[in-house]
Amino acid sequence: MADQFENVVNLCKRRGFVFPSAEIYGGFRSAYDYGPLGVLLLRNVQEAWWRSMVQLRDDVVGLDASILSPPAIWEASGHLQNFTDPLVDCRNCKERYRLDQLDDPTTCPNCGKSDTFTEARQFNLMFRTFAGPVEESAATVYLRPETAQGMFVNFKNVLETSRKKPPFGIAQIGKSFRNEITPGNFIFRTREFVQMEMEYFVPPDEGKQWFEYWCEQRYRWYIDLGIPTESLRLRPHDADELSHYSAGTSDVEYLYPWGWGELEGIANRTDYDLTQHATHSGEKLEYFDQASGERYVPHVIEPAAGATRTMMAFLLAAYSEDEVEGESRTVLRLHPRLSPYKVAVLPLSKKDTLTPLAREVLGKLQPFVMTDYDETQSIGRRYRRQDEIGTPWCVTVDFDSLEDKAVTIRDRDSLAQVRVPIDDLVTEIVGRLQAS
Ligand code: ATP
Repeated sequence: MADQFENVVNLCKRRGFVFPSAEIYGGFRSAYDYGPLGVLLLRNVQEAWWRSMVQLRDDVVGLDASILSPPAIWEASGHLQNFTDPLVDCRNCKERYRLDQLDDPTTCPNCGKSDTFTEARQFNLMFRTFAGPVEESAATVYLRPETAQGMFVNFKNVLETSRKKPPFGIAQIGKSFRNEITPGNFIFRTREFVQMEMEYFVPPDEGKQWFEYWCEQRYRWYIDLGIPTESLRLRPHDADELSHYSAGTSDVEYLYPWGWGELEGIANRTDYDLTQHATHSGEKLEYFDQASGERYVPHVIEPAAGATRTMMAFLLAAYSEDEVEGESRTVLRLHPRLSPYKVAVLPLSKKDTLTPLAREVLGKLQPFVMTDYDETQSIGRRYRRQDEIGTPWCVTVDFDSLEDKAVTIRDRDSLAQVRVPIDDLVTEIVGRLQAS
């Protein structure tokens, strides 16, 4: 299992999924850059989430709120006061830890010495900066540590403009920032990351039922995109883990090489957030049901996922090695919706006679799906390269293609090859993608 982690991290670097940030300056441990393949994979993760949460529903709308935000928001949400982790330093070796993450809170995992930790200090995880040229407290702003507050502060705007009524949701994908004490495990915990969050507003007496509904929906999303059931679990929080406002929280957890880790938290946040913002802003944040004459503050169910962390789980679950015709190959068995490229067009030889037709085939596919083109080295090598980055279908253009105007589609997983007329290729590939 530990090898799996090394293998995926190496593959990410070698093939251009994820690069250490600022590498030419020695790297910057808490951030990563997404390369030509990583940017496609990350977008596909987000796209799959958006499709399931917004596109395929008529009760959820989207939002893209600002990252820079005034202290008033974080005062009301409780983040200024409570968004802290307990920080301890080892007096012996100077390593720094989050106290709640230590297996043994009395012994330093780095130097092995006991009772060397300083008193725990509560460290606020929000990044603070200044808006405008003067660095004064009146100009203080924060980089958002979660996207969720954007939905709460826009509740009234969305309610008034979208003509939705509870139960309805507001979804957002975007960057969040946390000054994590111990970033690590590759892109599992970074200081800058992408979240995919949805706030679902419901009548107060329907909170429990919608909480269960979203737990089930969100668990299924990962399974449908290829995470094996034995590596995924829904873990309800114990009563002592729950935030004071939560009437129930469950985490979707993935079995990482180092153990179970959170991919997503689903929480029944009751009316806490809307009430807090209503009190602090003086605005009424409630719903008036004209039919029944009833006025209430909706309760909120929040499925909050991490796109970058989830991308890593998909990579780990997809990574495998097998043997094809006596040769070993690395293959990413990514769900086709997630694969960076859906198709690769491979002319059998680099001869000028095949290139024009191969490029014509490329041009037919490009408007519909991300398509790679590769004409260097042997066809076997090129298949291996595409397997390794998870391309589900390779299209080979050979000398017969010049005559029969057909190409061969090779399937990454079954290795089955079928001959398809070039005129039917787009329909075939799009059909396969939709059926996947
Ligand atoms: P953790 O306990 O791992 O710090 P959390 O419970 O604080 O996470 P939430 O506030 O519930 O996380 O955020 C929702 C999701 O955002 C998490 O499930 C995770 O996928 C993602 N996330 C949170 N912090 C980070 C981070 N530092 N790096 C990458 N993803 C993160």
